[in-house]
Amino acid sequence: MEIIARWYETGAPMRICIEGARVAEAARVDAAPGGMPWIAPGLLDMQINGYRGQEFSSDRLTVEHCAEIVEATAAFGVTRFLPTVTTNSLATLTGALRTIGEACSQDRRIAARVAGIHLEGPYISVQDGPRGAHPHVHCHAPDWDEFCRLQEASGGRIRVLTLSPEHPGAAPFVSKVVASGVIASIGHTAATVRQVNEAVDAGATMSTHLGNGSHPLLPRHENYLWAQMADDRLTAGMIADGHHLPRHLVKSIVRAKEPRRCVLVSDLSGYAGLPAGRYQTQLCELEILPTGKLVVAGQEELLAGASRPLCEGISNVMDFAGIGLAAAVDMAARRPAELLGLEVAAPRAGSAADFIVFTLAEGRAEGGARLELKQTVGGGEVLWQAAS
Ligand SMILES: [Zn+2]
Repeated sequence: MEIIARWYETGAPMRICIEGARVAEAARVDAAPGGMPWIAPGLLDMQINGYRGQEFSSDRLTVEHCAEIVEATAAFGVTRFLPTVTTNSLATLTGALRTIGEACSQDRRIAARVAGIHLEGPYISVQDGPRGAHPHVHCHAPDWDEFCRLQEASGGRIRVLTLSPEHPGAAPFVSKVVASGVIASIGHTAATVRQVNEAVDAGATMSTHLGNGSHPLLPRHENYLWAQMADDRLTAGMIADGHHLPRHLVKSIVRAKEPRRCVLVSDLSGYAGLPAGRYQTQLCELEILPTGKLVVAGQEELLAGASRPLCEGISNVMDFAGIGLAAAVDMAARRPAELLGLEVAAPRAGSAADFIVFTLAEGRAEGGARLELKQTVGGGEVLWQAAS
C-alpha cells in the first residue's frame, strides 16, 4: 500500500510505502498542484464506554460486542483505544473485564487495537455532581485486594484507573496502583486541594475529563479544578465535543497545562451511534436528538453522555484554544500513546503503519477548519475508508 500525503507536523509531502504491518519506505516528494491530504499517527482514545447500544460495563457484554465496537471506532480515526468500564457491581465489573480480556486473547486484531482497559470507578466520590451518572450504591473507598482481583480478571489489562482521592487511604492506594504499572487518574472527585496534592505526590499523573464529573458550584479559589490545572505533574483529559466544556474553559485548560499536558478523549457513551429517539437505560430514559446530542429524555440541555467522535475534538480544540494542527492532533494521538508507553507511528522505515489520512475543510459553522477523515490505517491494513 502506498499513501501520498503531507505529514501533519511539518507539512512535508511524503510517499509512505507500507508492507505488512510496518512502513517499508518513506520519502519526500514534490507537492501535487491540486493539494494533498494530511497524514498523522492513528488516534488513541483513552475513554470509550461502548457504542450503538452496548456498554462495556454490562452483564450482557460478549466477545462479539467487543469486536463490533472495535470495528466501529475505525470510522473515527481511532486505531487504538481503552475500553472503559465504569462503576458497577463487583460481579458486573469482573465479568466485563474478563470478557474484554477474552476478546483480546481470542482475536489478534482486537488485541492490536485495545491498548488496555480504563477502569473508571468504583473508587470515586459518592456525592451527587462529582459522581455523575455512576450508580451511588457501587461507589466506595479504594480496596487494594478488590482492585487486584479486578486486574486479574482483565488478564492484567487495566492501564488506567480513575479514582477520587477524597477517600481515607487514597494516597497509599495510589502509590500501590502506580507501582503496579497502572496510571492513577483523578476524576469524579469532591477532594480538597490538599487531597488532590497528596494523590499527585503519591504518583497520580492524570485528570479524567477535567471540568466534568464535578459540582455545579465550587468555592472560587480553593477547589479541585484549580488544584489540578496548576499541577504540571498532571496531564488533563478533556472532552472537547463542544457540549461538555465551554470553549473558554477548554482554552483556559490548554493555556494552563500547555498542549503537551492535554489529552483529548471522546468518552463515547454506549448509546452513541444509535438513531435519534428515546431509549430506556438502567438509570434513566435517554433521548438522542437529531443532532446526535445525547440528553435526558425531554431535557435538551441535560447531557446524558458523550456522542461525538474523537476526531471532532481535534477541530474543536484548534478553534477553541487557538492552537495549530500538530498540537491538536498530538493531544489525540501522540500524548495518550506516550502516557501508555506505546509506539507512535512516524514517516520512516520500520515504523508501525498506524495512520489517519484527512483533509481540512473551511466553513465550519462554529468557525475554524473541519477535520474530514478520509482513511484509517491500522496494522498496515485499511480499517476504514470514507465513501468517495
Ligand atoms: Zn466519567
